[in-house]
Amino acid sequence: MGSVQIVTTILAAAITAVAVWLAVRAVLKMVAVIRLGQPAPERFSDKVARARTMLVETAGHTRMLKWGVVGAAHWFVMVGFVVLSLLVLEAYFEVVTTDGGLPIIGHWTIFGLVTEIIGVLGLVGILVLMAIRLRNRPTRPGGRSRFTGSTMWQGYFVEWIVLLVLIFGFVIRGFKVATDHFEFPVWATPVSHAVGAVLPDWSDGVSVAAAIKIIISMTWLIVISLNVTMGVAWHRFLAFPNIFFKREPAKPAGSGLGALRPMTSQGKPLDFEEADPEKDQFGVAHVEQFSWKGLLDFSTCTECGRCQSQCPAWNTGKPLSPKLLVLSLRDHAYAKAPYLLAGGGKDLTGEEKATQAQLAHLDVLALAEADKPLIGTAEEGGVIDPDVLWSCTTCGACVEQCPVDIEHVDHIVDMRRYQVLIESSFPSEAGVMLRNLENKGNPWGAPQNTREDWTKGLDFEVPRVGEVDDFEYLFWVGCAGAFEDRAKKTTRAVATLLNEAGVTFAILGEGETCSGDPARRIGNEFVFQMLAQQNVETLNEAFEGREKAKRKIVATCPHCFNTLGNEYGQLGGEFEVVHHTQLLAHLVATGKLTPVQPVDGGVTYHDPCYLGRHNRVFAAPREVLGDAIAGDLTEMPRNSERSFCCGAGGARMWMEEKIGKRINVDRVEEAMATGAKTVAVGCPFCSTMLNDGVNGKGAGEQVEVIDVASVLLRSVKPEQPQGGRETAPVGG
Ligand code: SF4
Ligand code: SF4
Repeated sequence: MGSVQIVTTILAAAITAVAVWLAVRAVLKMVAVIRLGQPAPERFSDKVARARTMLVETAGHTRMLKWGVVGAAHWFVMVGFVVLSLLVLEAYFEVVTTDGGLPIIGHWTIFGLVTEIIGVLGLVGILVLMAIRLRNRPTRPGGRSRFTGSTMWQGYFVEWIVLLVLIFGFVIRGFKVATDHFEFPVWATPVSHAVGAVLPDWSDGVSVAAAIKIIISMTWLIVISLNVTMGVAWHRFLAFPNIFFKREPAKPAGSGLGALRPMTSQGKPLDFEEADPEKDQFGVAHVEQFSWKGLLDFSTCTECGRCQSQCPAWNTGKPLSPKLLVLSLRDHAYAKAPYLLAGGGKDLTGEEKATQAQLAHLDVLALAEADKPLIGTAEEGGVIDPDVLWSCTTCGACVEQCPVDIEHVDHIVDMRRYQVLIESSFPSEAGVMLRNLENKGNPWGAPQNTREDWTKGLDFEVPRVGEVDDFEYLFWVGCAGAFEDRAKKTTRAVATLLNEAGVTFAILGEGETCSGDPARRIGNEFVFQMLAQQNVETLNEAFEGREKAKRKIVATCPHCFNTLGNEYGQLGGEFEVVHHTQLLAHLVATGKLTPVQPVDGGVTYHDPCYLGRHNRVFAAPREVLGDAIAGDLTEMPRNSERSFCCGAGGARMWMEEKIGKRINVDRVEEAMATGAKTVAVGCPFCSTMLNDGVNGKGAGEQVEVIDVASVLLRSVKPEQPQGGRETAPVGG
């Protein structure tokens, strides 16, 4: 060992010792913060499926590859990070001696070849990612991007470190070539040989370059260890457990979509018959009341902004960005952690748990952070502004896009639950809807005895359950389908088509009440449970004696479809629920319905969030339309998984939209830009919102918004009176 090697070895050892010590301290701190969360025992189920999903999602980059070039570039950088870590390890041998290398595999030509290829692809990948970040930097002329609000220096820092580590990998190899210490052939390592051809024959070059590579790598480790909220770096490690512990590992996509999580206290579902707000946690009032998985979610966020770029609230000028919401919760959790770890925190009656002695030596900033209300305006020092919380339509675009499976919607609804159930704090206009649900069983407050009015004038009988011996489908009409004039046309169209196809069905009539979706999404779990239990009882009675496969329900409202199919199981209601577009697609495919007159004039289709993203029903409505219309369906730029919300979900239908551009107008402009004369929908709320948007633009005479079922009915029974344009806002 020469004098240069003595210096490089000491330098490498010293910086590595410091970095490892800081990294261990950082990991212990993160684990301690995450453990502050509430228990979530269900996250440990089905470990095989969890492991499989984690491997498929990470190795296959299933989310990221939907983003084309950036996904591919990120894949090469990720593989580069894993495989080329071996080369960082090898550098520890190279600082000691110029011909050092990894024992055994370090001499295999295949090792030289693979690391060469991955090194080159990693270089290309990181240059692409750097270019994309620079091109989308929020400070560029032209304004906002998905990186708006991200901590940009951290992204640049991580990318430069990766670039330099990769470059120095080739410089080390180049010096080995130049000094004749390189054992791999040109065919396996052409780039290394090319670099070696321009480097001097400097005998200590290998050790010096290796030391620089180690210093760069350890600088990265030191910086991220001193910044435990630096998700852009830590996600390299945290993404694995975050995906492993996702809500529903067996779901190929959208694990945090569909059903909402039941309310839990101490990890156990809350029983409202016995729940006591002084003993049980009702939603989330403090950051430590999220589950540990919630805190892991916040820690894992990479600040990539994919969620933000798809969010309808953010894209129409509302203060909500799912990314910024997650970052606020993360920063608050870590800033409050010293106070919580010292024993601080409020019990469920609002009393401080810690003694004065426990808090005596705490940093004043941690104490100030602990005083912040989780939900509050800027003047109140709140972590999340109420306008942020109530802007969410629960459309799920954020969950769909997030490459590390963060479950934004669950966190938002958990915070809403506390605000509604304990603070009674929510947009006042939604109070009418909640009162109507409690008193009349529907959000409009329509009289229950008008639920069957939609059947009047049909030229066939619509039987109620109990009036017929047998029926294949229970037709769940839904409140909109029963009381709202536009939706009633869809209900009639579906009933007519089912009758035409010879499908036996029956309705509950006055026995049906609201599924509870708006109550649950606004956070009023109590009203949801009340309505849902009543419906589950009614439905179980209607299907008494039938096995699950024969407890078939068809629903026209995606919110009912989602609630009945995905959430009633939490209350003992197991049913086979289909959306009417699925049943109609089947009836057309099996020849039971025959479109005879194609609908022309150009048709586009708007995916309802609770049908598409939340339940992955993308094909059926398109199949129906494909059979019923002349020519091809004209897709909007934002369609299917990336469809843009109409603005009505998450109980936003019953709240005023006071900030920014109206979401429905944004969507209608996109639909109208296709030139289609018909905008087909599969949801009564989308129908209302888009009709309002079209009328608001004064285009009601040129563009018609109707349900897929009505389009099909026009094609199957062109002689059927269609009832003209659908303009009336609310019936009943
Ligand atoms: S659910 Fe939709 S509206 Fe809510 S934060 Fe996510 S993307 Fe935005
Ligand atoms: S929440 Fe997910 S999609 Fe959004 S910025 Fe963080 S990692 Fe990216």
